[in-house]
Amino acid sequence: MNKKELKQLACSIIDQNSDRIIDIGQQIFANPELGYKEHKTAALVEKIFDELNLPYTNKLALTGSKAVLKGKSDQVRVAVMGELDAVLCPEHPFADLETGAAHSCGHNAQIAGMLGAAIGLSNPKVADCLAGEVVFMAVPAEEPVEIEYRQRLRDQGLIEFLGGKQELIKIGALDDIDMTIMFHSTTRDAKVVVDGTSNGFIAKLIKYKGKEAHAGGAPHNGVNALNAAMIGLQGIHAQRETFRDDDCIRIHPIITKGGDLVNIVPADVRLETYVRGKTMDAVLLASKKVNNALKAGALAIGAEVEIIELPGFLPRENDKKLTQIFRANAVELVGADNVVTGSHGTGSSDIGDVMHLMPAIHPYVGGMTGSGHTKHYEVKDPYLAYVVPAKIMAMSVIDLLAEDARLGLEVKATEPKMTKEEYLKLWDNFINQK
Ligand SMILES: [Zn+2]
Repeated sequence: MNKKELKQLACSIIDQNSDRIIDIGQQIFANPELGYKEHKTAALVEKIFDELNLPYTNKLALTGSKAVLKGKSDQVRVAVMGELDAVLCPEHPFADLETGAAHSCGHNAQIAGMLGAAIGLSNPKVADCLAGEVVFMAVPAEEPVEIEYRQRLRDQGLIEFLGGKQELIKIGALDDIDMTIMFHSTTRDAKVVVDGTSNGFIAKLIKYKGKEAHAGGAPHNGVNALNAAMIGLQGIHAQRETFRDDDCIRIHPIITKGGDLVNIVPADVRLETYVRGKTMDAVLLASKKVNNALKAGALAIGAEVEIIELPGFLPRENDKKLTQIFRANAVELVGADNVVTGSHGTGSSDIGDVMHLMPAIHPYVGGMTGSGHTKHYEVKDPYLAYVVPAKIMAMSVIDLLAEDARLGLEVKATEPKMTKEEYLKLWDNFINQK
């Protein structure tokens, strides 16, 4: 079969399974779990891998898994990734009542799309024509949240990074991958958005330590850590006018602990923040200003401050050849008018880190409505959200691996920005700059 016939076959198999794929997406939407805790979602993924007779390894970076579809050669290995995790959004209609987790970032669609592509490509008539291997990966913890919890996992030696893909890099789970395809859902009107860049960031966990005292009877004996934190935050805001528009700096701290009891002078106050920017140079410069401001708060009140820095994510830059392939297949499926080119986004994703080590893409596919990370986020068009991306990714894999993997070999020859060793050292340097 030629590429066109292979794509038609894979897409018709995916369409025959569209109810099953939509059901996977909706099941995950109704059972959200936060990063590094996605046990139910991981079990669902592994069940589908079993049904497709795809051998897999699991518990990678705690909850991730990796299934391999063998073709007639292993000269090129393409990963198709989907993210397992949700965000916290307790008022969302489908939020987990106990944890408050909700899929208001649409990662449920990524798993449905990844498994949909697996359903189409694992049919022997398709797989036997692929001159390379397809590695389907369910990836934990894209949302770099619950920093204090993840810091405890770090202390226990269970993880090193906030992001699941970074952790997979570190443990060697991506050592045998040549390129990565994934997608993210979008609430935009365009059905598909390709290319575009995004911010990188450094994460901080901040602990102000003061001195307890009776808040009514003897405040003069206390050192108010909340006041120190408030001055620290004001110091950060006072720096905002020094950030250049081009650097797209985003700093958005939260207070995760403001004190213990209302009648005790707060002595233990905790904050989390990211410092995001378009380049890591811009991030590092802003990060220094943030640290100075936080220290100034402690100095003003006579409190102490501990600033723990953690690796955030690197800026995102899509591979051009993979983008071309994805775009052409998207155009074929949804029409040129519905495929647009992205610009710079001020959010971040750990696919940015993967993009520094191999060609990778992170396009967007529609089908969602409401605004991301809020209670209004919903699935509007399940076919577009779950089934269309499965088809575009399957078609793109066929482009890469059919016809003796000519295109796949071409993409594989792209020089990566850095080696894994250089990458791991890079983060070490970034977070140790005080
Ligand atoms: Zn997301």
